[in-house]
Amino acid sequence: MNTEKVRCAIIGSGPGGYTAAIYASRAGLKPIVFTGSAPGGQITMTDKIDNFPGYPEGISGFGLMEDIKKQAERFNAEIRSESIVKVDFSKRPFTLCTENDNVILAESVIVSTGASARWLGLESENKFRGMGVSTCATCDGFFYRKKDVAVIGGGDTACSEALYLSSLCNKVYLVVRRDVLRASKVVQDTLMKKENIEILWQQKPLEILGDESGVTGLRLVSSVDEKQTDINVLGVFVAIGNIPNTEIFKGQLDLDESGYIITKGNTSYTNIAGVFAAGDVQDSRYKQAITAAGSGAKAAIDCERWLMENPLQ
Ligand code: NAP
Repeated sequence: MNTEKVRCAIIGSGPGGYTAAIYASRAGLKPIVFTGSAPGGQITMTDKIDNFPGYPEGISGFGLMEDIKKQAERFNAEIRSESIVKVDFSKRPFTLCTENDNVILAESVIVSTGASARWLGLESENKFRGMGVSTCATCDGFFYRKKDVAVIGGGDTACSEALYLSSLCNKVYLVVRRDVLRASKVVQDTLMKKENIEILWQQKPLEILGDESGVTGLRLVSSVDEKQTDINVLGVFVAIGNIPNTEIFKGQLDLDESGYIITKGNTSYTNIAGVFAAGDVQDSRYKQAITAAGSGAKAAIDCERWLMENPLQ
């Protein structure tokens, strides 16, 4: 077990965490970023980002995160492939325990642990996870070349996944529980032009069907008249939103009813002085790469100023 003192620990490595690392390292705080088990965060699963400023031709989520990471490393931010599994924010320095039993004593902490894909909660979903059920078209779409698949959800993620899959698969069913999509207009317009995407309106997934080879179909129930329908698909992509990664902060940081960290006013301050939050973990509203990056910059600026005003005795 190693014990190490740091001025600024950043937990999480999405656009919020890496941007905080750029600002904190330029401010001389020598931050250490603990990447967690998914370096780069959820956005690395996105095939193409067309709305991050500075990339006129668009960029892959993975490419974007590699660029932001490199920028942080240019200013000597340390990026560590380790997860923080326990925290104690009751006294300063704050204690962070890593999965390898290392202990970090941090003068300040920026939490940017992001969010994870929400699951439907069906038993059959669990059973066929990795055998036809996925939350990442960019990662797993390749296996369904020229096959029929279903995407569940009506938000930007589901529509983007459906669009990506439509270029690989024979047919893509988009299963939407209401009679409207939640996705942005530009994405909806593109989707409507794709001949091999069929929207199944007002349908809810009831059961994922399959055998020992994996998924073979999806049973749907109408939200209108409860009528059940089976569709033949070999892949089911679940894209029904996210849940914030705040389990290890429960009881220490103030969370809202959905589990997002509550920040004060227009700042990154949490209820614990010296602990700041950035990115999707504190944003149930915008959840864009650019807003996460912006909040990472704010958190590092708040952190730098706070450390100046509150030196550790
Ligand atoms: P979202 O906007 O919350 O949409 C979730 C979708 O899943 C909604 O259509 C919802 O239906 C449906 N849903 C939820 N629970 C369900 C269930 N149990 N069964 C069936 N359907 C269910 O989530 P998201 O699409 O992941 O987007 C999250 C945020 O990231 C948004 O702010 C989005 O704009 C952003 N985002 C942006 C981009 C981009 O700009 N390129 C890409 C991806 C995501 P209801 O509408 O009926 O609630």
